[in-house]
Amino acid sequence: MSVFIPLGVLDDAVIRKIAEISGENAGRCMQCGTCSAVCPMVESMQPSVRQLMLLLQHGQSGAALEASTAWTCAACHTCLVRCPRGIDIPRVMEAIRQMVLRENLDRINPRGIPAETLAAVPPIALVAAFRKLTA
Ligand code: SF4
Ligand code: SF4
Repeated sequence: MSVFIPLGVLDDAVIRKIAEISGENAGRCMQCGTCSAVCPMVESMQPSVRQLMLLLQHGQSGAALEASTAWTCAACHTCLVRCPRGIDIPRVMEAIRQMVLRENLDRINPRGIPAETLAAVPPIALVAAFRKLTA
């Protein structure tokens, strides 16, 4: 953990764990918005990538874990390439997903997927979704 961590955030165990898993310090984010501007998935995210980093900076771990952002991230790495702080945002996203999945909280119910959807979706996409979205 380096500089720029706002007061109070260090007391948030979840934020510390996300930093530990990802190896990234969200406190280094300067809120420039470049990540949101270049993210191909941003219109499907709530909140945006930049806003997610802001939640982490302010110790809003509950909101960060409940946000759709990390689950919508396609791990394309565009934000990582463009971030002026060099923050590996996809790793932060992965850490947030791990925090949820470690609690055995699945994001999808495989048994709830309609048969017609299972028949239409490529198997490799289903496997990728199950690996990403289930504990
Ligand atoms: S591009 Fe980097 S510094 Fe800018 S808002 Fe996104 S995470 Fe923060
Ligand atoms: S890695 Fe995720 S958050 Fe970053 S630009 Fe790609 S989809 Fe968006």
